[in-house]
Amino acid sequence: MWGLLLALAALAPSVGLGLGAPSASVLGLTPGSTPAPRSSPAQPPGKTNATSEQQIRIRVIKKKKVIVKKRKKLIRPSPPVTAKPMVTTSPTGSPNLPEKQEPGCPPLGLESLRVSDSQFEASSSQSFGLGPHRGRLNIQSGLEDGDLYDGAWCAEQQDTEPWFQVDARNPIRFSGIVTQGRNSVWRYDWVTSYKVQFSNDSRTWWTSRNHSSGMDAVFPANSDPETPVLNLLPEPQVARFIRLLPQTWFQEGAPCLRAEILACPVSDPNDLPPEAHSLGSSDPLDFRHHNYKAMRKLMKEVNEQCPNITRIYSIGKSYQGLKLYVMEMSDQPGEHELGEPEVRYVAGMHGNEALGRELLLLLMQFLCHEFLRGNPRVTRLLTEMRIHLLPSMNPDGYETTYRRGSELVGWAEGRWNHQGIDLNHNFADLNTPLWDAEDDGLVPHVFPNHHVPLPTYYTLPNATVAPETRAVIEWMKRIPFVLSANLHGGELVVSYPFDMTRTPWAARELTPTPDDAVFRWLSTVYAGTNRVMQDTDRRPCHSQDFSLHGNIINGADWHTVPGSMNDFSYLHTNCFEVTVELSCDKFPHENELPQEWENNKDALLTYLEQVRMGIAGVVRDKDTQLGIADAVIAVEGINHDVTTAWGGDYWRLLTPGDYMVTASAEGYHSVTRTCRVTFEEGPVPCNFMLTKTPKQRLRELLAAGVKVPPDLRRRLERLRGQK
Ligand SMILES: [Zn+2]
Repeated sequence: MWGLLLALAALAPSVGLGLGAPSASVLGLTPGSTPAPRSSPAQPPGKTNATSEQQIRIRVIKKKKVIVKKRKKLIRPSPPVTAKPMVTTSPTGSPNLPEKQEPGCPPLGLESLRVSDSQFEASSSQSFGLGPHRGRLNIQSGLEDGDLYDGAWCAEQQDTEPWFQVDARNPIRFSGIVTQGRNSVWRYDWVTSYKVQFSNDSRTWWTSRNHSSGMDAVFPANSDPETPVLNLLPEPQVARFIRLLPQTWFQEGAPCLRAEILACPVSDPNDLPPEAHSLGSSDPLDFRHHNYKAMRKLMKEVNEQCPNITRIYSIGKSYQGLKLYVMEMSDQPGEHELGEPEVRYVAGMHGNEALGRELLLLLMQFLCHEFLRGNPRVTRLLTEMRIHLLPSMNPDGYETTYRRGSELVGWAEGRWNHQGIDLNHNFADLNTPLWDAEDDGLVPHVFPNHHVPLPTYYTLPNATVAPETRAVIEWMKRIPFVLSANLHGGELVVSYPFDMTRTPWAARELTPTPDDAVFRWLSTVYAGTNRVMQDTDRRPCHSQDFSLHGNIINGADWHTVPGSMNDFSYLHTNCFEVTVELSCDKFPHENELPQEWENNKDALLTYLEQVRMGIAGVVRDKDTQLGIADAVIAVEGINHDVTTAWGGDYWRLLTPGDYMVTASAEGYHSVTRTCRVTFEEGPVPCNFMLTKTPKQRLRELLAAGVKVPPDLRRRLERLRGQK
């Protein structure tokens, strides 16, 4: 997901807000009150609604107001105050980050949308778009103020006793709260302290108290809009309802917050089974988040379990020196077999979008297990294609994210590589030279409509190209990929190229490729087999409802991205690639992984099977029967060609229809034939035999130098004899 984050970055200077830039990634973590033992029994219901005593107290606190934070502090807040001692060593040598925090109980699911809109209530709201259902951790706002999709719950300014309430629907053991301020380009609003109340019936409430003093606990909250702040309750409380009561907030602002509630199921045998139980998957896979070391270990285990169909290789190193590991899966790992397409999944180019990484680690385990079990679908997949899985394109970013943990990492930290480069903007912009050449009428005869060369500036030694990007480009050149998807997170939508708008500087504009039909089909296949995207009742993640258009969108029509990996794949290689935004929550809690796997399992398999769509074949030399490398396959009506691999084999993804296909190669007569793509499973074989041109034969003779063919030699001798 890029979307609003970039808009924020672009707009930030005008409001003096240092968001969006990598500097936001150094924002500190500020856990609140001291965690208490969680073994103590739940406090019995006591106090009722807010008393007049409380009202007075609130007013007094408000009169004091909060000291206005200097804007500098937004960029670099005071060092984190920590409740627990923290380990500051890090395997990658990153700046001192806290070790991964385990808040104990998992999130109730405000961020992941497991908690539905109807479970929220509040004392008041400034507008519908700032209603309590928007008080979800990491929710992103629309650009317009007062629209339907604003970036927090905000109580009315006049509301003297604001509260925000979540109904867990069943008794549950509340253990902690994570809060953020309002996500807005235009305003600063955050809560600086709050109290917490509990209830079983939403009428009688009791307040969380400090252990030692017996006073109502006042939890220190946020000091900027974005950094999540965790407060563990002095004692966990069993209740059905929880209320946050803002006590103080940023001066001139309103009580606005985004929250996640941490809660454990109550282990009462008479209770209905907690919802978490229905979130399972029957696949025996390792449903955990894996940091670099754990990922490497897991990949090794898969390799040991399935040595005949797997191979691990590295395509290079991150800036910090972590290897970019790929798991290759095929019946003949390690070699390109003639006629067998190469497909890939890439995850984690934004290091904080962690779900894709785990899905690929789950996919490799699943393929291995199912192959051993003789699953026919998986066996066929592994015999008819070579699958390459890169779970972590930006391992440096991920390590940062992982150490913060699922609930405390915020929206952007870990997105960039260690140099602060957004890898999805770091590929060469080949769109501009192509479109310039098109405007000048040079395509395809003078300027190619495929394999657009790298611009000179990009190849200079001092070009700002991340090592991760370079590694992926070299990988793309080495292997003749046909199909790919690039896994992201933070939204639920599949976006297809072009990612960059054709009109310079246009923020968004529909910019289809010549292969729009294929890309729309590919995107629809993923969106149509992903369980959450198919849920017609689902609410939008943030500020756009992609379900209105089948959960797919042209990338440029969403938000322009120059230098994206999708556009580069399409314009520099034969590979067709789309972006899958897998979930609203970029870093779902571990206990959501089984469900996320089930949501995506079929989609991940079905998408790869689309490599069967279209035509494929081998282009050969008619005399020698040898395959011709780099022959060009052109389809009439589609201004984008593909080329053959070293063995002369090619794949041309196409939707059903009749096509005039021309194969041409340097030194050969071109051949055109009709190929019909049907709805039946393909690919449809469409082979070519090319004959050398006389000119080429002569050229080869000359190149051979002394080796003049015998008949010609005899003729020459005869001529000499006549003299
Ligand atoms: Zn992303």
